[in-house]
Amino acid sequence: MRSCRAISALVSQGLDKELSLRERFSVWLHVMMCTRCRNFQTQSRFIRKAARRYTDELQSRLSNKP
Ligand SMILES: [Zn+2]
Repeated sequence: MRSCRAISALVSQGLDKELSLRERFSVWLHVMMCTRCRNFQTQSRFIRKAARRYTDELQSRLSNKP
């Protein structure tokens, strides 16, 4: 089993790029057993989603300028 450090690194990478099947599997396997990494994954996804919504909003405002 990979360490929490390795898993959180993979989780962060997974936000920016597609992970390989093997990487996704080890993340999945790890978060099944590790609450800390599961929370980290949930938070990272939430933050990423919120940040994307914010930039989308900002961009649409800028492009819709009269
Ligand atoms: Zn962990």
